[in-house]
Amino acid sequence: MITSKKVKEAVKKMGADLVGIASLDRFEGAPRQMDPRYINPEARALIVIATRIPRGTLRGIEEGTYFLSYSSMGYGGINRIYNPMILWQLTRYLEDEGYEATPIPNDYYDWPAIDYATGRVKENWSRPVAPERPAPDVFVHFRIAAFCAGLGEIGYSKVFLTPEFGPRQRFACLLTDAPLEPDPLYEGPKLCDRCLLCVKECTGQAISPAETVKVRIAGREVEWGKLDVDACTKAFAGSNKKYNPFTGEPSPVVVYSRALEGARGCIRACMIHLEKEGKIKNRFRNEFRRRKPWVME
Ligand code: SF4
Repeated sequence: MITSKKVKEAVKKMGADLVGIASLDRFEGAPRQMDPRYINPEARALIVIATRIPRGTLRGIEEGTYFLSYSSMGYGGINRIYNPMILWQLTRYLEDEGYEATPIPNDYYDWPAIDYATGRVKENWSRPVAPERPAPDVFVHFRIAAFCAGLGEIGYSKVFLTPEFGPRQRFACLLTDAPLEPDPLYEGPKLCDRCLLCVKECTGQAISPAETVKVRIAGREVEWGKLDVDACTKAFAGSNKKYNPFTGEPSPVVVYSRALEGARGCIRACMIHLEKEGKIKNRFRNEFRRRKPWVME
């Protein structure tokens, strides 16, 4: 008989660092365009997997000398190669047990009917196939899914924090009609202490220090700093020249996004802080920040 324990052990063997299971009633109240139940109304569980962002992929950006590792091995490669490989294996595992599985990779740029920058339904994009259904594609919010699967909490930066890796992981999901027991919501020690280092160190000043967003998820109130997604998107690509040493134009053939900013506030500053506070289980022998952070004249 299939059990959550067996599925989770299998997912770990497939290469995931973390796995949690959400029941779908935890999405009650979600906007229709963001409710995974519309993808498969008969689904019984949402499995959420996470793969760590290796700390060393951020090293070259921290030193200002090697930017490729984070964009490829810490970002695009996890979302587009590594996590999908786990989803394929998990899909086959569940099918062999007689259950349907719908993999949901973290590849949200074009498909969803929602513009992820504004949160509004896109104009001239898609139409519902029937009046009672949302327009394709439904947008699955990975951080909310991870919250519903009990993997941790959403930090002030809006980046998801886990006790294992702090802000260093990327998620993917899978919907299944297998009757899996859900994990409880995260009850561990509070991770985000509102230090606001994410706000201070963000090179795009994309996170408001005062204005917040409050939502209710699975019966709990969750709050994060208001994020200016446009400012975040520009800074991500190196719009602040004080933190971008590249002067040439990228080749038109770009396999991975160029994450030039290296998540200076929301991942690096947050990780350094949580490591110092002893809140991350994945410990290192040496501190991450060893020199004064660079900034271009
Ligand atoms: S940097 Fe501080 S305030 Fe920001 S998410 Fe991390 S712990 Fe929370």
